[in-house]
Amino acid sequence: MANFRTHLTAGTITGIIGGGVCWQYGFFLKASHLIIAIGLFIIGSILPDIDAESSIPTKIVVSLSSFLAVGLVLVSIANINGSIEIVVQTVLCIVTYILIKYLLPKILSSITYHRGLIHSVPMGILISLVLMVYFLSIDYEIFMAGLLGSFLGGGFFLHLMLDELYSVNIFGARIKSSFGTALQIFSFTQPIRYILLYLVIGYVYFNFIPHG
Ligand SMILES: [Zn+2]
Repeated sequence: MANFRTHLTAGTITGIIGGGVCWQYGFFLKASHLIIAIGLFIIGSILPDIDAESSIPTKIVVSLSSFLAVGLVLVSIANINGSIEIVVQTVLCIVTYILIKYLLPKILSSITYHRGLIHSVPMGILISLVLMVYFLSIDYEIFMAGLLGSFLGGGFFLHLMLDELYSVNIFGARIKSSFGTALQIFSFTQPIRYILLYLVIGYVYFNFIPHG
């Protein structure tokens, strides 16, 4: 599997190139959206390893996620009509930060194992959809919401592809035992979890994404 630095470097470069191309084609109307998109791509590119036992990457991912969550809370507050008192805002931010920073790793390690359900293709699809629904809920247009969701998903899939590539050595002469575990679409060792995950994807897609 590719190491953390490889993922971060590849994610940053690909995110900037992808963002630049979309900017050139006029997909982003605001520079802030471009920056958010690149940031999401980078986060996506290190997110799948969040299921690894308390390693340094996991700690960094958790820290980034807690800051991102606080950012999302602030964006949500800014988009809600009617002001919320500054004290309440501060408390909301602190509670969000603590919840993600301290509870997320515990929850993750109790329900997952490395290269399990979180490190899979359907999980990438689900997080993209959930993020898209989030942006729709704060009144982003469907195109922009989908684009930003795709950037997170794009980073996520880049990570899975890199892990898969690294499981075959450069000349393809030797295939490591981890081959095939990175770009996982379904696992017969945990079928119920995967079926549930696909059901959740279907539920989110048909109930929260506007059609037609
Ligand atoms: Zn990985």
